[in-house]
Amino acid sequence: KDSIIGYTAIRQDITDKKIVEYLSITDELTQTYNRRHFNIKIEEEINRAKRNDYYLTFLMLDIDHFKFYNDTYGHQEGDKALQRVAQVLKIHTIRATDFAFRLGGEEFGIIFSFKDEKESLEYANLIKKEIELLKIVHKANTASSFLTVSIGLIVRKGEKIENVHTIYRLADEALYNAKTAGRNQVCV
Ligand code: GH3
Ligand code: MG
Ligand code: MG
Repeated sequence: KDSIIGYTAIRQDITDKKIVEYLSITDELTQTYNRRHFNIKIEEEINRAKRNDYYLTFLMLDIDHFKFYNDTYGHQEGDKALQRVAQVLKIHTIRATDFAFRLGGEEFGIIFSFKDEKESLEYANLIKKEIELLKIVHKANTASSFLTVSIGLIVRKGEKIENVHTIYRLADEALYNAKTAGRNQVCV
């Protein structure tokens, strides 16, 4: 009888630990991984890709004219749109080597691996297209009548992979180019 009680106590412990771990790596609103987890994962994935001479792809995604969206439809609708966009990212990161993060505000990141740059670009374009196909009406968007995203994409292989800060900066620059080129597009 004593041992049965003990067993229950241990099982409860493990469950609590898992919940705490889940909460510590998850963004509450979107249920994607949070920024803190990104900082850990990006280091891990860079090292893994270098070791195995794999491709590492990082894409940075930012919703177009999201301030106007909030201004037009309210903050609560804005939150709902963030959740729907996040859902698209989650559906496309189900492999064990793919991860979707909320990097902050209306900005997300995906770390993933494909066989080459062409395939990675197709993947980024698919994500972009599927978000527009959610058909979330956004009449103040200059790029479409629906809510859209701009994406900065970085593809690197093995030894050629720079450090975290450089990868992040390059993706951010590519994203900036996608914005200035008219939004609702992917820049490499
Ligand atoms: P751009 O196309 O250049 O990205 O324009 P933008 O309006 O999307 O960019 P800006 O950085 O000016 O505005 C970001 C907006 O995102 C402002 C902020 O209110 C909104 N935002 C950030 N986090 C949240 C959130 O958690 N919920 C909601 N509803 N809005 C958010
Ligand atoms: Mg934005
Ligand atoms: Mg932004």
